Amino acid sequence: MNRVTLDVLLCGTGVNFAQGDLALSGVFLITSATDGGRPIRMIVDTGHVGMRRHVIQALAKARLKPEDIDFVALTHVHWDHVQNIDLFPSAVLVLAAAELASIQDAHARDLVTPGWTRHLFDGREVRAVVPGDELVPGVEFVDAAGHTAGSLAFAMTVDGRRAVITGDALPWAEVARLQQSALVFWDLERSQDTIRRLVEMADVLYPGHDRPFSLVGGEVEYELPFEMTMFGASFDTPGFTVGPPPILSTIDLTDGEPVGPLWTKEELEP
Ligand SMILES: [Zn+2]
Repeated sequence: MNRVTLDVLLCGTGVNFAQGDLALSGVFLITSATDGGRPIRMIVDTGHVGMRRHVIQALAKARLKPEDIDFVALTHVHWDHVQNIDLFPSAVLVLAAAELASIQDAHARDLVTPGWTRHLFDGREVRAVVPGDELVPGVEFVDAAGHTAGSLAFAMTVDGRRAVITGDALPWAEVARLQQSALVFWDLERSQDTIRRLVEMADVLYPGHDRPFSLVGGEVEYELPFEMTMFGASFDTPGFTVGPPPILSTIDLTDGEPVGPLWTKEELEP
C-alpha cells in the first residue's frame, strides 16, 4: 500500500511591490511511503535566494536534512522557483524535457529566465520527464504548459482528495476562479487550456504564489489563513500605497512588445 503526504514548507504569495517583485513562491514537500520501504521525498520548487534562510528553517522544522531529499522537482525554471536548488546537492533534479530545452533558448522577452539559469544545472543529475512519466509512486506529472513551454504540475491523492501543485500555470486563486491568467510567457491558448484542466482535476489546488484552496460553487475557499508581516513601513507611513491585485499588473510577453495588462478588471469580472 502506497501513501502520499503533501506538506506546504513555505506558502507562496501573490503580494507584490510596484518597485520590484517580491515573488515568494510556494515550496512543497511530497513524501511517498510504501510499507516497509524507506519513504521517497520530493521537494517541489525551491524559491529564490531571498527565501533561502526560510527554506533551510522549514526543512529543519520538518526534521529533515538536505540529503534526505531524493528529488527536487521544478514546476518551471523561472528565477523565483529555482534559485535554491543548490541547497539540495545530492537530490536528482526533475523537470519537463520541454522546460529544460527552453533554458538554452529562453524567450527573448522572458525577463524572469536570465541566461545564467542554465548554469544552475551544471554538474547536477537531471531527470528530464514528460507528462505521464512515473518516478515517485502516487505522484502524477501533469502537462501544465502555457505559462512557460514546459510547465509541469504534480497531482496526487492526499487523504482521499486530489491535490495538484500547479506552479505558475495557476499562480493564484483568482486565476482559477476566472479561468484565465495574464501571467503568460509562452502560449496564451495553452495556458487557458491548462488552467481549465487543472481546475477540473483538482479537489485542492496548491498554486505557485498563493495559499492552497478549493473552488466551492465557483468561489475560493482557502485551506490556510493569510499570514504576512512587513518590516520597515506600515499602512500609515506617508507614501505607502495599497494597490490592485497582481493579475492587473502583469504583462503579456507572448507576441513581441509588452502590452500592459491583458485584461482590465471590468473585463475579468463576469
Ligand atoms: Zn513563473
